Amino acid sequence: MQVIGTIAELRALRQQLSGAVGFVPTMGYLHQGHLALVRRARTENSTVVVSIYVNPTQFGPREDSAGYPRELNRDLDLLHSEKVDVIFVPSDAEMYPPGFSTWVDVENVTERLEGASRPGHFRGVATIVTKLFNVVRPSRAYFGQKDAQQTAVIRRMVADLDMGIEIVAVPTVRESDGLAMSSRNVHLSPEERRAATVLFEALTLTRELSRGGEKDAEEIRQQMTSLIQKEPLARIDYVSIADASTLEELSFIDRPALASLAVTIGKTRLMDNMPLE
Ligand code: AMP
Repeated sequence: MQVIGTIAELRALRQQLSGAVGFVPTMGYLHQGHLALVRRARTENSTVVVSIYVNPTQFGPREDSAGYPRELNRDLDLLHSEKVDVIFVPSDAEMYPPGFSTWVDVENVTERLEGASRPGHFRGVATIVTKLFNVVRPSRAYFGQKDAQQTAVIRRMVADLDMGIEIVAVPTVRESDGLAMSSRNVHLSPEERRAATVLFEALTLTRELSRGGEKDAEEIRQQMTSLIQKEPLARIDYVSIADASTLEELSFIDRPALASLAVTIGKTRLMDNMPLE
């Protein structure tokens, strides 16, 4: 396993690789969700590259990238156990040198949900992922269903800019009570952690309603909303039933749809989603 901090070193190493390269971009503080991506990449490629970088440009002015949890040595141990070949851990100065002025803006799919709640977020994501793709030049890149809109944005970008990279979406890994694993869960107090199960409960209700034949999206949104409102620690940011690829809100479920929600519990903003067949 090689740990690399500079673009120049990674480029030099990349030139020597033959065969498929699988790439897993992360912000570190790894959990089983990240490792599911890494394991999938390991089975499908000769070389696996993981990046660990807390990208400051995808955090809004009122969000704190410096406060994002970090534990590099533990992350490196976990990735070593998964037989990852290369770990890229760049500094901010390496990724955004003085004079940096070029941004990747994906339109439409970025304007809703997370994009509406966190202006500029997807511009930061698309820009850093493009830069990482340009350096790693992967055959396949692995993203979590957990961040369904991010995966949709990356798919759009890869198609529009002819990047020629296969985007693989990996199902969400959950705790035993259904809470989606997230690096942010560490911020929850024990009481908030208990309250956080309301997200999965709302999605489970959605799935049951949908399986029962409910096609009225507004009816489902209302039932999700009233279930979440029963939890005093939860504050809804959005509740959505949308087209699974464009993320446009639906009034009637007549195509593959995605139920998604963002809810703040205490001071921690959590999000989750579930595809509706
Ligand atoms: P992050 O470090 O939060 O930027 O996440 C890095 C990648 O891991 C993203 O593609 C996420 O969607 C994915 N990921 C995060 N949490 C989970 C989870 N619980 N299950 C599956 N993938 C996840």
